[in-house]
Amino acid sequence: MTSIDVYRDRLQRAQVALQPSGLELLCVGPGSDLIYLTGIDAHLSERLNLLLVPASGRPSFVIPRLEAPNIAGKADLVDIHAWEETESPSELAAKLAQSAKSVAVGDQLHAIFLLRLQEAMPTASWTPGGPVLRDLRMRKDAAEIESQREVAQRTDRAWAVFLESGPIAGLTEHGAMDRLSGLMAEQGINPMFGICASGPNSAAPHHHTGDRVIEAGDAVIFDFGGELDSYLSDMTRTVVIGEPSDEYRKVYEIVLRANQAAFEAVKPGVACEDVDRAARDLITEAGYGPSFIHRVGHGLGLDVHEEPYMVCGNTLLLAPGMVFSDEPGIYLEGRFGVRIEDTVVCTGDGAERLNSAAKDLTVMD
Ligand code: ZN
Ligand code: ZN
Ligand code: ZN
Repeated sequence: MTSIDVYRDRLQRAQVALQPSGLELLCVGPGSDLIYLTGIDAHLSERLNLLLVPASGRPSFVIPRLEAPNIAGKADLVDIHAWEETESPSELAAKLAQSAKSVAVGDQLHAIFLLRLQEAMPTASWTPGGPVLRDLRMRKDAAEIESQREVAQRTDRAWAVFLESGPIAGLTEHGAMDRLSGLMAEQGINPMFGICASGPNSAAPHHHTGDRVIEAGDAVIFDFGGELDSYLSDMTRTVVIGEPSDEYRKVYEIVLRANQAAFEAVKPGVACEDVDRAARDLITEAGYGPSFIHRVGHGLGLDVHEEPYMVCGNTLLLAPGMVFSDEPGIYLEGRFGVRIEDTVVCTGDGAERLNSAAKDLTVMD
């Protein structure tokens, strides 16, 4: 459990982050930014829940009366303002905003709420809150990294048990994924997402797990993750059913080396795009450049995709505490694909993998 002092500190740092650009107020709706700043896992619905963080002074939280009991424990952290069913929550928020002129809006506030706030505060100017919170969210503290390590290692264990759990040939993609999700649950983590892509489907990086029956000769990609204490894991392993072809062996080896090359590129001061380039150059030199059709990685934490993004064009410099995926892939349309994904944290002088499940070429029945 994150203590109230940690949230108080994060709120204060958000206030400090508002000041250089002269922003007077930050508005945050339900979502991971709100969880990060306050620990409040607010209900996202047609009723407004809104955190208002002024550049200085106490933050307020606007919440429907019927949901107010859920956050009674947060009264030390924020002033709670419950609104009645017959009241306008935007008018209430406008009052609490104390005629702020320059307002930052968290990325996760739904458009309808922003439109109503704009109506209630006609003289204010509005700007994205993402840049205000970005540095805070990207640089994980020791407790956050420990949470990510724990969920990653439990995900590793679920995978290790899965590999020993018997044949998957004959199961549908859904059937295989259900087995793996069940094993994640047995490790005490909430399965959050899972892609099982078999045979030609493995050539589609974001395949929707379906009813195709896994058969001999298939490459099968499992991309899966779970949640523990709000933090997520995200890993991918590719297996082959029965004896692999020479081309599968070759492609697998290249992807494995690209995964290692990206990992070795990680250290403070290196641009995010150079981590992508390390994997991409290796795959391109091996002749598969056009078949690596996505960035090499994305930040991971309270959200499964968050900053920083390891993508060509992103000149942001890595810093200690940044957590992200390392997931090169090669996709041969109509035939098969291979992806290998680990979660990596940038340390003081290099990088550490938070998960450590084996990555050798793996044959399943
Ligand atoms: Zn993805
Ligand atoms: Zn993944
Ligand atoms: Zn990922």
